[in-house]
Amino acid sequence: MGIYTFLEQKLQAGQTVLLDGATGTELEKRGVPMNSRAWTAEAVFSCPEVVQAVHRDYILAGAEVITVNSFSLAKHMLLFAGLSGQFRQLNEAAVRLAIEARAQAATTPVAIAGSIAPTTFCLEPAKGYLQRAEAFAGYAEQAEILCQAGVDLLIIEMISDIEQGSLAVQAACGTGLPVWLGFSCRRTAAGRLMLWDRGHTLSEGVDAIGKIGGSAAFIMHTDVVDATLAFAELKKAWSGTLGIYAHSGVFVMPNWQFNDVISPEEYALEAGVWLEMGAQIIGGCCGIGPAHIGELKKRCGF
Ligand SMILES: [Zn+2]
Repeated sequence: MGIYTFLEQKLQAGQTVLLDGATGTELEKRGVPMNSRAWTAEAVFSCPEVVQAVHRDYILAGAEVITVNSFSLAKHMLLFAGLSGQFRQLNEAAVRLAIEARAQAATTPVAIAGSIAPTTFCLEPAKGYLQRAEAFAGYAEQAEILCQAGVDLLIIEMISDIEQGSLAVQAACGTGLPVWLGFSCRRTAAGRLMLWDRGHTLSEGVDAIGKIGGSAAFIMHTDVVDATLAFAELKKAWSGTLGIYAHSGVFVMPNWQFNDVISPEEYALEAGVWLEMGAQIIGGCCGIGPAHIGELKKRCGF
């Protein structure tokens, strides 16, 4: 049985699946230098043993899905950082590190998810690059490289607007792999919770992008304090499998600020609420590390 089939059968039987926590912020916490334009991209070559150790620690904490450090390996981010010549090699190496970590640490089935980011996530986006055709080509090429390198599924992380999110999901679905949809939300100045670009509501985003494809929909890279409300909105808009992995702390590019990050015990309490609301897949985003995942495993019945 394929590893994704194993996950799918668990989900269809109404069981829960434990995701990993953050990859990027965990690398930062372990001293890996961040690139001011492409965040964790260089870690794959500069500190492969640390990337692998992060994956391994999540598997040992109980994660059934680990995420490749490919969020920052989107073509548009590498272009901006002058690293696009290594696009294929970086993505292939990132998958290899996850596969090796699984071989070293897993004693039960662990799926490997390739991360694709339809966002610049930079303070100074490469203006003019993200035209539709170029953006789609970049997402499709990355999805294909990740697929050929051996990932079991793809997660489109930080869907922040409808246009780029749609292109990335369409590109990922073209591989034939299962695709999970990760929607990010934050508040407007007036306090309204919207998609990250603040141009659309989450419901509008889910309606538009869910039509393209997706095996599960998530609230992710959304502050823990807003995640429960966002999840309730997601639940109304998406009738399929639901998941959530929230963040805690603040990003000041290129470094996550760990002050006031929620404790593992408190995060597990929040997760208990999400499980009761119908989340079947739970993990953590920025600021959430292996100790949090271990606590979820211990307390939440994964
Ligand atoms: Zn995050």
